[in-house]
Amino acid sequence: MNSRICRFTGMFLFCAAAVLGGCGDEEEPPPPPPAPLPTTGPFAAPTYANYLKGMKICLDPGHGGRANRKGYKRGPTGLREAEVNLKVAHCLREFLEASGAKVYMTRRKDVYLAEDEREDQRLRIEMANRNDCDVFVSIHHNASGTNPNANFTSVWYHDDPDHSPASLDVAQQLAVALTDELRLPQQLGCPLMSDKLMFAKSGFSVLRQAKVPAVLCESSFHSNPDEEARLRNPEYNRREAHALFAGLARYAYAGIPRMQVVDPPDGLLPESGGKQVVIELNDGIRDRKSWGWDRPLILSDSIVVRQDGKDLPFTFDKRTNLLTVPLPKKLKLGSMGLEVRFMNLFKQSNPKTSLELKVVKKLPPNRPVARALTPPVPAPATEESE
Ligand SMILES: [Zn+2]
Repeated sequence: MNSRICRFTGMFLFCAAAVLGGCGDEEEPPPPPPAPLPTTGPFAAPTYANYLKGMKICLDPGHGGRANRKGYKRGPTGLREAEVNLKVAHCLREFLEASGAKVYMTRRKDVYLAEDEREDQRLRIEMANRNDCDVFVSIHHNASGTNPNANFTSVWYHDDPDHSPASLDVAQQLAVALTDELRLPQQLGCPLMSDKLMFAKSGFSVLRQAKVPAVLCESSFHSNPDEEARLRNPEYNRREAHALFAGLARYAYAGIPRMQVVDPPDGLLPESGGKQVVIELNDGIRDRKSWGWDRPLILSDSIVVRQDGKDLPFTFDKRTNLLTVPLPKKLKLGSMGLEVRFMNLFKQSNPKTSLELKVVKKLPPNRPVARALTPPVPAPATEESE
């Protein structure tokens, strides 16, 4: 077995063992006390946190309420996971609200949302879906029944990476921020985890029903005695919240790509087909008009247009961000969905990938006229020496 395969196999075994709750029997040295945050002030907001303004973020402190029973999700000396989850969520809510984000909390107290566990999970994600939130973050802490030394961060997304690339964008930012700020004694080679690793058929119920970018954080292990002691410390809870805050701020800073149909403006297409659909892609950055805004900010090779799972041809104008999709000569009556995916300069994906159009026998009279489109970006200036 060559060394590359050995390294890969070793990592896989470590990950698999870790997920199953065991990380080896080696005696770990006691973890160091939490290091101070590398910022000028305690829990200072990064300058880019201003991009959180106006974002809708749903926080879900896991468990609570009827889960308050003996031995259920408790650390070695009895600290309840649900209690820590709630403390971290409240600190995070304060950071986010101070930055102008609108925060929805699935619970603000030690309660369960419904007697039935499935219904409880459904109600949690339903809050994010109903309010069309930009992000859903479920806050948890991990446990191992077999290895008290286990203590690392993992951030979970639903299904395969292709299922919701925008969820992966959020997961990546949160995982990096938690790794930076918590400085746990152990790190997974890849802290981004599909929930299908745990439940191969359907994943986590709270993520499965998400219609918005959704992740579940297992920030650290409350079953680790040293970590349990740290999790009792409100300053440490605040640090974890600050890490999640910084991760969400980085996600906002990198821009959230969006799109809209500009022609036909009413979304109606004639059955006879032979038309085209024009979609304006928004990279989520250009509207800030900061230096360089007039350069292309979309990765044109990342654009994919599909109908019923089949790729469609298109043209993309980098200067106007207009995507033109020619349609077949004959269309089926009724609703017609288009799937469009693309990435911006930061390689962040558009969270909403579907567009609904309607094919009708005859177009109504007096239809709206397509609105004036975004003025083209000026052509690049001629090259000058510095
Ligand atoms: Zn949990």
